[in-house]
Amino acid sequence: MLDCMIIGGGPAGLSAALVLGRAKRRIILLDDNRPRNAVTRESHGFITRDGTTPAEFRRLAHQDIQKYSSVEFRTERVTDAVRHTDFLEVTTAAGAVYHTKKLLLATGLKEVLPDIPGIQEYYGRSIFSCPYCDGWELRDQPLAIISNDEVHARHLLVVLWNWSHQLLVCTNGKYALSLEFKEDLQRKNISFNEHPIINLAGHGGQLERITFSNHEEATLTGGFITPDWFQSSELGEALGCAKSHSGGILIDEFGRTSIPHVYAAGDTSAIAPSQVIIAAGEGSRAAIGVNTDLAHEEF
Ligand SMILES: Cc1cc2nc3c(=O)[nH]c(=O)nc-3n(C[C@H](O)[C@H](O)[C@H](O)COP(=O)(O)OP(=O)(O)OC[C@H]3O[C@@H](n4cnc5c(N)ncnc54)[C@H](O)[C@@H]3O)c2cc1C
Repeated sequence: MLDCMIIGGGPAGLSAALVLGRAKRRIILLDDNRPRNAVTRESHGFITRDGTTPAEFRRLAHQDIQKYSSVEFRTERVTDAVRHTDFLEVTTAAGAVYHTKKLLLATGLKEVLPDIPGIQEYYGRSIFSCPYCDGWELRDQPLAIISNDEVHARHLLVVLWNWSHQLLVCTNGKYALSLEFKEDLQRKNISFNEHPIINLAGHGGQLERITFSNHEEATLTGGFITPDWFQSSELGEALGCAKSHSGGILIDEFGRTSIPHVYAAGDTSAIAPSQVIIAAGEGSRAAIGVNTDLAHEEF
């Protein structure tokens, strides 16, 4: 019987493993190694780790945690988690079965990119989704804003305006811009195109040109998109964890979900914007929740 099982070895799960290891807890972290930011070359905004690759971040985290012998890592995908009265049963794709007093879900999100031919080649290199992560690198450059609806396009535009005034709003043929939005764009001298994007051109992931179905072309050096986000795993839903309005797992201030003995942290939960440092902070907070609850139960 484990004290806690952590599912997911990204910043949230790794940070939780460190705190629980230091609390002498017997834990296993299961991860199938498909991090959300795998496509990016550098991760920004984590103080002391600004510009680190996602792989290097994980390597350093493993190095820190190796000091604590009660923590074990296994590379496996969890396929099922069932709650019994006072423990949880976790099953992996390889057929292993674990019993644990507490379960921490740190499984993150996965993204579906807009429907544009070849976009995978540019995503994480010159097209991104988060200005706080990559806005600095693209500052003052000509950039596309690609969203599937006006609400997201407007939000991205207002925030990105801080980094660059050379912006082109692209609806990719998914919706028509409202008159009010068009007037706002014209007032700020921002271009727009409402036709589907039929081609992205560039070299080695560096965007150079966008072509629209009306044969217009735009010379750009990058862009920001609003992808659709989904939970990476259905485990929270299968366990019956309540969700927030944004679709994340609802947690309290110690990472507790609505299901007793089940905790969540990082992108999979509801509270934070998507950032490595916030995911790590949430992992730490949920681990303190796990240890505090175990301590009260044991005392
Ligand atoms: C292109 C891109 C660039 C980004 N750049 C930055 C940046 O510069 N700075 C920044 O702060 N943030 C950045 N982010 C956001 C950042 O990647 C996330 O906020 C962060 O990774 C969230 O950490 P997490 O631990 O919650 O989830 P993740 O890092 O996604 O880790 C979740 C882990 O759980 C595993 N998993 C999922 N389901 C299962 C299962 N059933 N069984 C076993 N394992 C499972 C996955 O394989 C994965 O390893 C970027 C995101 C993207 C997409």
